[in-house]
Amino acid sequence: MTYAIAPHAIPSVPVAGTDMRFPLHRIYCIGRNYADHAKEMGAEIDRKQPIFFNKPADAVVIGNSDVAYPSATNDLHHEVEMVVALATGGRDIAVEHALEHVYAYGVGLDLTRRDLQAAAKSKGNPWDSAKGFDQSAPVSNLHRASEIGHPQNCIISLHVNGEPRQSSNIKTMIFSVAEIIHELSKLYNLQPGDLIFTGTPAGVAALVKGDRFQAELEGVAVLEGRIV
Ligand code: MN
Repeated sequence: MTYAIAPHAIPSVPVAGTDMRFPLHRIYCIGRNYADHAKEMGAEIDRKQPIFFNKPADAVVIGNSDVAYPSATNDLHHEVEMVVALATGGRDIAVEHALEHVYAYGVGLDLTRRDLQAAAKSKGNPWDSAKGFDQSAPVSNLHRASEIGHPQNCIISLHVNGEPRQSSNIKTMIFSVAEIIHELSKLYNLQPGDLIFTGTPAGVAALVKGDRFQAELEGVAVLEGRIV
């Protein structure tokens, strides 16, 4: 078998403390997973019905790289989020077994064209162009659960140009990591290499060219970068 054109490289993320990389399959994201953020967006929370969307795997930007300000927006927003990497997948994964599928944790930004998202929401249109654009998923190195365990009570924060923008404790997530995996596995056959963005706390705001961001999952991972 030969490919008709040269196949693209598999997007991947460095595994901290090793020379290995984690090969990406898909990027799943949950929306409205912190009550304070849902409130600032004027959105209702439905505990029974999580909101999921995707980013393309090649939207990932490896830590400490420049991120190009995207086209077609005048309102690029940061959303700092804990990121979960799956070593194994499956369908209909029980909550009590969900964490057994987790390989590693990191921190990332769910970059959002907020103006396009607002327009899509007002028309009942999909969010894809607001969420799934090129370089919309900067992510830190991944830290293996075998080394750090499963973080469930720690601060997630974002500073921009040294000023605090977002800070919360991941224990306040509406759907826990295990519950997110359970819910996603009802909708999709999860696969090794899947990455999950677990939602953002309050304080989302604009990024402009030249901004330097520092995202941190306390005691776990740090991501630094610059908008250019
Ligand atoms: Mn988000």
